[in-house]
Amino acid sequence: MLRSDLSISVTELGSLLDHSGVVGAAEDYAARVFGADFSMFVTNGTSTSNKIVLHGCVTQGDAVLIDRNCHKSVQHGLSMTGSIPVYLRPLRNGYGIIGPIALDQLQPAAIDAAITSTPLRRYMNDEAPVYAVITNSTYDGLCYDVEAVDHALGERVDRIHFDEAWFAYARFNPLYAGRYGMYRESGDSSGPTVLTTQSTHKLLAALSQASMIHVRQGRKPIDRDRFNEAFMMHASTSPQYAIIASNDVSTAMMDGASGVSLTQESIQEAIAFRKTMVRVGREIIKRDEGGSRGPWWFGVWQPDVIVDPVGGDECDFSAVSDEVLGREPRCWTLAPGAAWHGFGDLAQGYCMLDPIKVTLLTPGIDSLGELATWGIPAELVSRFLETRGIVVEKTGDYTLLFLFSIGITRGKWGTLVDALFDFKTLYDRDAPLREVFPDLARAHGDRYGALTLPMLGDEMHAFMLETELPRKLERAYETLPEPVMPPDVAYENLVRGKVRMLPVGEMAGHASAVMVVPYPPGIPILMPGENVEAAIVEYLEALQAFDRRFPGFAHHVLGVALDGGERHSGYRVSCLLDDATTVAGGSAAAGRSEP
Ligand SMILES: *Cc1c(COP(=O)(O)O)cnc(C)c1O
Repeated sequence: MLRSDLSISVTELGSLLDHSGVVGAAEDYAARVFGADFSMFVTNGTSTSNKIVLHGCVTQGDAVLIDRNCHKSVQHGLSMTGSIPVYLRPLRNGYGIIGPIALDQLQPAAIDAAITSTPLRRYMNDEAPVYAVITNSTYDGLCYDVEAVDHALGERVDRIHFDEAWFAYARFNPLYAGRYGMYRESGDSSGPTVLTTQSTHKLLAALSQASMIHVRQGRKPIDRDRFNEAFMMHASTSPQYAIIASNDVSTAMMDGASGVSLTQESIQEAIAFRKTMVRVGREIIKRDEGGSRGPWWFGVWQPDVIVDPVGGDECDFSAVSDEVLGREPRCWTLAPGAAWHGFGDLAQGYCMLDPIKVTLLTPGIDSLGELATWGIPAELVSRFLETRGIVVEKTGDYTLLFLFSIGITRGKWGTLVDALFDFKTLYDRDAPLREVFPDLARAHGDRYGALTLPMLGDEMHAFMLETELPRKLERAYETLPEPVMPPDVAYENLVRGKVRMLPVGEMAGHASAVMVVPYPPGIPILMPGENVEAAIVEYLEALQAFDRRFPGFAHHVLGVALDGGERHSGYRVSCLLDDATTVAGGSAAAGRSEP
């Protein structure tokens, strides 16, 4: 890598900014393989790809439809362009997993209603939205019937962007047919123009920061040269050639038969893991292992009953062969109203769970958010796995997410099953925390020194019951906060210093200057310029109380500053002052264009 770290003045390497030479050839190759009319390589992550797409498609005062479950880079794109967001709200279930946006929310009537009801309407150039962005798949592995989305959204917008940061492999396996942005073959230009952005480094094999933008032309095509102005605004003039080359290698790995076999391998490994987890759970129940608490094991978030795609009968998940599970999308689609997913009445076939994204459930809550009397918060398990060198992709209140990327082997996931077993053994024999988490017990001896693993779990679960944290989360996300100004104006105020850090308890009635995102679930609770409502304060206060009660287990809340180090005294958020301006361009513009 160091030897290939050459300068842009080596002309035989071509130029990323002009998409010329070997770099241009590699981008053309990627366009062929990924099914685009043209593709661009980006060397600063999909964070930058998203900003390029927004900058290249929308401008000040344009109405845009935004998945509320968007990555922060999309929000940055809003602030940079001065476009006016109209949010599309995804579903949530009781585990706190973010679902798809329901199909009826994408239909023209719902979109028109969302546009007419937003207080930001007065800032819009025109009420016809010019662009929509959807996260596909979600972090938890829920992917859309893209044709249905295109069709519905296409009634109102000419350009649709699918943020596929975690989904670059979808085109290469028939299991995902019709579920990724570039599903349409060339020649059909009657539909909306579709753009996708993919982190090649996340679930394909490229180096960190490698990303791609793909464009499939439709109505209102993208002029490549004009779009490249946006590209150049965000690109470095000294791109890293190793990153560019790794995009090319990833493309070649996916091209032809190897793409199918590599993706199929991950799918089959994930299925084998899922089945093993179910089988182990049944064994434990049969043998009644679990000490005084009765038999328990981790659940797998997946359908328990599947309509056999071959015979048409309902059968147990474990009774369906690995081969059928690995081939038939119908095994993974979320059936309308099925209890396991908790998203209610989704349209048949609209949403599919990607088998390679595996969510494990710890005991304590159901898909409707009903807490049981006993439970094991997932953070404890996650923390234990970390001591074994296993990093959990995302930890929820009672969920653990694992991704089966290319190259995962039976040996690797076998280690995970062993570690989960070890956790169970330690839990069931009341192991002291000094033994399970020596570092934690040392750092907070007075707090944890005398506790056992189940004692801490019980305390955490009791806290959930007492504070009704899952319900508070639900209420905080139930209604969208009211925006008082668009994100770009909030950002202007931030730069001009028209902001003040407020403790969370004093935020109600003020507007946030920044995006606030609790992890999990990783979906913004506040966008810049949105009013802080009581339900949001209550939720953040409960999180803060948890962090105080359980030192060493603090939540990660993006956009929140902490007072003082580990034993912090509280969350603080940058809020807008009462005399903050509400128009872009500040006071000079106010006389001209007070909306
Ligand atoms: C990770 C992520 C991004 C940003 O990608 P990077 O390559 O890390 O810059 C964008 N969108 C979504 C949905 C993501 O999860």
